[in-house]
Amino acid sequence: MIDTTSAADLLARTERVLLEDKGLVDFETALALTELDAPRMPDLLALAHRVRLHYCGEGVEVESLISAKTGGCIEDCAFCSQSVRYQSPIDRHPLLKPDVILEGAKASEAAGATQYCIVVAVRGPDEPLMRRVLEAIDLIHAETSMKVDCSLGLLTDEQAQRLADAGVHHYNHNLEAARSFFPNIVQTHRWEERVETCKRAKRVGMGLCSGGIFGMGESWRQRVEMAFELRELGVDEVPLNFLNPRPGTPLGDRPKLGAMDALKICAIYRLVLPDVVLRYGGGRELVLRDLAALGLTGGVNAMIIGNYLTTTGIAPEDDLKLIADLGMPIRP
Ligand code: SF4
Repeated sequence: MIDTTSAADLLARTERVLLEDKGLVDFETALALTELDAPRMPDLLALAHRVRLHYCGEGVEVESLISAKTGGCIEDCAFCSQSVRYQSPIDRHPLLKPDVILEGAKASEAAGATQYCIVVAVRGPDEPLMRRVLEAIDLIHAETSMKVDCSLGLLTDEQAQRLADAGVHHYNHNLEAARSFFPNIVQTHRWEERVETCKRAKRVGMGLCSGGIFGMGESWRQRVEMAFELRELGVDEVPLNFLNPRPGTPLGDRPKLGAMDALKICAIYRLVLPDVVLRYGGGRELVLRDLAALGLTGGVNAMIIGNYLTTTGIAPEDDLKLIADLGMPIRP
């Protein structure tokens, strides 16, 4: 940990770079920020909030997810209860029909979301899955005003193009972890394959939504590495997920991340990625509990409302109340 004078100096330098020079923080600065201790957290969060207001404004973006196919994935991601390799108690179901996916979009719109992400548990989409998802996207565009995002795994160039042609707003494909940590959690595909799909999504004109999961055993340096890898990719949106250890998975016994560490991650990601949509993802309720508001005044400017893929979230109206209590408008 760094002493009080050095901490104040580090924060002042970081603020100058971001808000006066309109520059970007470098790797060593971001790494030094991870050394700030608990008494400096209010200063770090306040700086992240000023940077968020300057680059993104005060609005909060609200998205909901639908798990359009749950379970049965052949990959071996160690955190994931949807892999066929682990005996996790989840409610598996095959790919939903387009009209069911549409109903989910309508319900999400009624609950206050402006974006709707169709997520399927697969390595990558096959042709029948592509067709059904494309049909659902057309229906949602015709019958709601929701922006549609997709998360369908590894894509080919042709698949990426078809999704872009269908008007998909953002393609979600998380890096999950820094390149140096990824082999510890996934053996069935390479980190570079994920990066290639991210680049494909961008090449065809979709916005790129990519982030990761924290609390899987990675170091602070690796958390910062991933932030810079995402910056290098030119991400538009970064979901910050905190591991919710799922029974039956190889990470099922991992201790949960501390709340202060989670908030520090939020703030540092804002400082490294000043103009992206930084979204609270899964695990927020478990790790932050009542401290979720501190992230929204510490760099985070987007939320997933409702349930996650295999775990239950907070009631959407409670999250919307939290945003209203903070005096922040919903970003259209
Ligand atoms: S590819 Fe996705 S659904 Fe499949 S095991 Fe990995 S995280 Fe889970």
